[in-house]
Amino acid sequence: MNTKSFYSNSDVVAHLQTGMPTLFHSSQTSTVIPFEKMEGALKSNTVMGNLSTIKGALEMQANGNLKISGFVTWKEAKEFCLSKGREIMTSPTEELAGVLAGIATSCTGERSFGFRNLRSQIVECNYLDFNGVEHTLSATKKLDIGIDLADYQKDFSHYAQYKNAPYPRMEFETDLMTGTEGQLGVIDSAILKTIEHFPETYIFMLLPRWEENFEPHLELYNAVQKFRDRVRACEILDSNSLSYLPPEKNPGKNNDVVFLEIRKDDFENIYEDLLSHLTLLNEDQIFEMDATKCRDLRVSVPRAVFEANSRMGVTKKGTDVQVSAEKFKELLLFYRKLGTHGVPYNLFGHFGDAHLHFNFMPTPDKENFCNAELESLYEQVLQWKGSPFAEHGIGLLKRKFIAPFYSETQKNVFRALKKKYDPKGQFFPEGFMTC
Ligand SMILES: Cc1cc2nc3c(=O)[nH]c(=O)nc-3n(C[C@H](O)[C@H](O)[C@H](O)COP(=O)(O)OP(=O)(O)OC[C@H]3O[C@@H](n4cnc5c(N)ncnc54)[C@H](O)[C@@H]3O)c2cc1C
Repeated sequence: MNTKSFYSNSDVVAHLQTGMPTLFHSSQTSTVIPFEKMEGALKSNTVMGNLSTIKGALEMQANGNLKISGFVTWKEAKEFCLSKGREIMTSPTEELAGVLAGIATSCTGERSFGFRNLRSQIVECNYLDFNGVEHTLSATKKLDIGIDLADYQKDFSHYAQYKNAPYPRMEFETDLMTGTEGQLGVIDSAILKTIEHFPETYIFMLLPRWEENFEPHLELYNAVQKFRDRVRACEILDSNSLSYLPPEKNPGKNNDVVFLEIRKDDFENIYEDLLSHLTLLNEDQIFEMDATKCRDLRVSVPRAVFEANSRMGVTKKGTDVQVSAEKFKELLLFYRKLGTHGVPYNLFGHFGDAHLHFNFMPTPDKENFCNAELESLYEQVLQWKGSPFAEHGIGLLKRKFIAPFYSETQKNVFRALKKKYDPKGQFFPEGFMTC
């Protein structure tokens, strides 16, 4: 495997000018690229180009926008903003991922419930093209690139309210780099909107196990939709996910937990306007948890799941499906069925957005069985017109499953984009746009 680390933009420019096919990467936290076993996953001459060695820089601009250059993690960006009395609106669970990589994967997270997706928070983005020349893309300028995008955009409009569609948006200039997974250029800096910081708090609710009774879940899901202006995140950790935690850290005790992130000064009115109206939840099932403890809990679950899979030597068998409100119950019923095959599983994720990660936890001999089950789920998602990979992207592992979601309309646009922006085929040639 050819690997190369870059220490400055000029290093990247010199490399781009060689035209060598490269998978540029940052923190390698992608769950759709098997970084732990890449042997044979890429073409033999593709280089693994490490961008996480480029020194990062952060600048808070006078208008409250945040400029990020080089390699900066979400954790660093968040802490920097807080030190200036500001907040970043995207909060992926894996905070050690890179912010610029987050643009490449159109990363989302729990706060998408209140603040929508990262796509809507980008102001500007700079990238290096195949000659190593830097270009600036604006989030307010319509994409005008000599490629007919009318049918593509018409198809995309169905997914406008989803966190991510099965394919990138391609409406404004910044869309060229957003969710295109490094297949059209290398992002070297970006400007993101931020908001004024107000202390937050978390409301935890204990619910029955969704496998046995999800009526309280659905009541809460429907009720919270009208509170997107006050509730920033609405997440679920089911009883199976919580069982991976040490008992003293587990607030569930054989219950599911749904939690809301809100501003501390909204606590009383959220209680009054939302929670007190829930008929299937008692007061003694609701409690407050401080931000640090909650974050710790939230990060521990997917990490524990990831580690359990690694120990077992299996690639993650998880879903990233988002559906419309009308199909949410059907999605839960489908997941219920997946849970009846004797393979351990867990469910967590972005409950308020009908976007849940169902994870099989198979032994190696059950991997093929799980893949077949997941394939039947994706067939169903296609029928539901849902989004099969609303957050973690396609990478290498989901290419097979995304294929039925592309018609000639999408493929023609991908081919035209690759021809124009990647004429030498050097940007992640194994990615989903090569078709
Ligand atoms: C425990 C856990 C929790 C997670 N939670 C979330 C979550 O809540 N939300 C979410 O969206 N994702 C989540 N992820 C997935 C992952 O963290 C995101 O996809 C993240 O954006 C990847 O960032 P990275 O720095 O690790 O990029 P890498 O994994 O190194 O690369 C990912 C992709 O981005 C491209 N890329 C990287 N840097 C650049 C660049 N500068 N220019 C162009 N292309 C580039 C690469 O080519 C590759 O295709 C989670 C992962 C784990 C392990």
